[in-house]
Amino acid sequence: MHLSLTVPPDTPLGRRDLRTLPKAHLHLHFTGAMRPGTLIDMAREQGARLPAHLLDLDPLTVPADARGWFRFQRSYDCARALVRSETAMRRIVREAAEDEAAEGSVRLEMQVDPTSYAPWVGGLTPALEIVLDEARAASHATGVQVSIIVAASRTRHPLDARTLARLAAQYAGTGPGEVVGFGLSNDERVGETSAFAHAFRIARDAGLVSTPHGGELLGPDSVRHVLDTLAPRRLGHGVRASEDRDLLHFLVDQGVAFEVCPASNVHLGVYHDLSQVPLPILMEAGATVALGADDPLLFHSRLLAQYAAARDIHGFSDAQLAVLAHHSIDACIADEFSQRQWHADIDAWLAAPPTSVQPDIK
Ligand SMILES: [Zn+2]
Repeated sequence: MHLSLTVPPDTPLGRRDLRTLPKAHLHLHFTGAMRPGTLIDMAREQGARLPAHLLDLDPLTVPADARGWFRFQRSYDCARALVRSETAMRRIVREAAEDEAAEGSVRLEMQVDPTSYAPWVGGLTPALEIVLDEARAASHATGVQVSIIVAASRTRHPLDARTLARLAAQYAGTGPGEVVGFGLSNDERVGETSAFAHAFRIARDAGLVSTPHGGELLGPDSVRHVLDTLAPRRLGHGVRASEDRDLLHFLVDQGVAFEVCPASNVHLGVYHDLSQVPLPILMEAGATVALGADDPLLFHSRLLAQYAAARDIHGFSDAQLAVLAHHSIDACIADEFSQRQWHADIDAWLAAPPTSVQPDIK
């Protein structure tokens, strides 16, 4: 674990290129990973008209209430409805891996709920197998290890989650093209968390890591529910745990990592602006934090921009940004050999002098 926030005395001052900082991306949804241009291509191919907000240059921004979430979900559903073939599914995985490679990611753990794509490709099993097969191929082509988290939805029946957990269990592993974790996504205010406990038990028994969303739209009580019933090793978001210091310290003691997605939090109205995202509070408490982009298709902000925000908004030094990258590697579910190599590569990034001032990343 790399928890130190102090700057080593031999670290040269200046700004290193964040694109060459090795990092793991642990919070990215399948449809939300799509390039805007790909969405437009798919709409054109199907003769579908995209609603204005998906063509807008401005990212989606909504208030953190039920109506705001409804708008977000409608946009997401609109994009997802265009993904109707094996070719489209493979394109999303491949382009996500290429985009991660361009940003210096060495590992991507992408969340997918195969339910929505299943009718177009012959069922749940082929839907997941297509994603896994392309994840393997994309890993080989790009050098980014792409693994998958199967995520159930809070808005569907908990028995559906059990079906997904049993399916995911058949592909459990840690490598490219394997399922590494089991998640729970969608509106945190919907559904009873404990009703999903059985599905998570099935997943954990198969060796999958529990990675549910929690502590995003709701506060500490919701995080406690998730903690008590789903035994998470990582929390999707988890940022609202910062409102209860005892809870936060308990999570840190338990080794629960946080997948913090600053741009998503702002665009979904959880925080007013990036400076309000409690990244420094979590880091000072000793939490393991992996930055994530959540749904760059809608928020127009990819992983690199989250690191840039830590630098530009919170004033993180290069040494602190390297700590964040180390955390992302600590929190990922890759094999130990790969993790050791990536930690060494991050140390090498920090040890090298900054070659130039990096331009701001939007
Ligand atoms: Zn998410």
